[in-house]
Amino acid sequence: MVFLGPPGAGKGTQAERLVAATGDAHLSTGDLLRAAVADGTALGVEAKRYMDAGELVPDEVVIGMIRERLESHDGGFLLDGFPRSVPQAQALDELLDSLDSALCVVLLLDVGRDELIERLLARGRADDTPETVAKRLDVYLEQTEPLIGYYEARGLLARINGEQSVDEVFGEIEAAVSKAC
Ligand code: ADP
Repeated sequence: MVFLGPPGAGKGTQAERLVAATGDAHLSTGDLLRAAVADGTALGVEAKRYMDAGELVPDEVVIGMIRERLESHDGGFLLDGFPRSVPQAQALDELLDSLDSALCVVLLLDVGRDELIERLLARGRADDTPETVAKRLDVYLEQTEPLIGYYEARGLLARINGEQSVDEVFGEIEAAVSKAC
């Protein structure tokens, strides 16, 4: 399964609930990158520059991280924050093919821009400054939104209204997953 949606849509919150219900592994590139930054690894030092600027970390870095984890993982998984660009989605397709695996659903968490800005600025994470938030939303529109069409064309997309209570959003997600997976 893949979680798609703009920063601040609530992917992290819903992803936690979904993996608790299904027993799948939760793979969040944002969490993996923040862990690398906290550990001060070479990858973390490189990634931090992009994250602080609200830009995407280079594809080869995140693709490598995901490849390493999927190759050593048996069973279901939920990708959260990956793929975030068409080249990343193509790399994921190739990786899943090579592992004889496939996606069953891409959950698009839909939230309007004004609501997103409000949520991100209220959250107060280190990369949630007004400038970075605006930049991340622009990067989403430019590089990540094209994935909606990419997955719609493959019949994998499920649109979820993210402007409801956490429970209501989760109810829609559970219904979409039980239908598609
Ligand atoms: P949010 O969903 O709020 O943007 P994330 O935790 O998913 O937060 O991502 C935080 C930052 O980590 C992004 O702004 C970006 O710099 C980097 N990042 C996360 N996932 C990816 C990815 N798949 N490709 C490139 N950069 C990524």
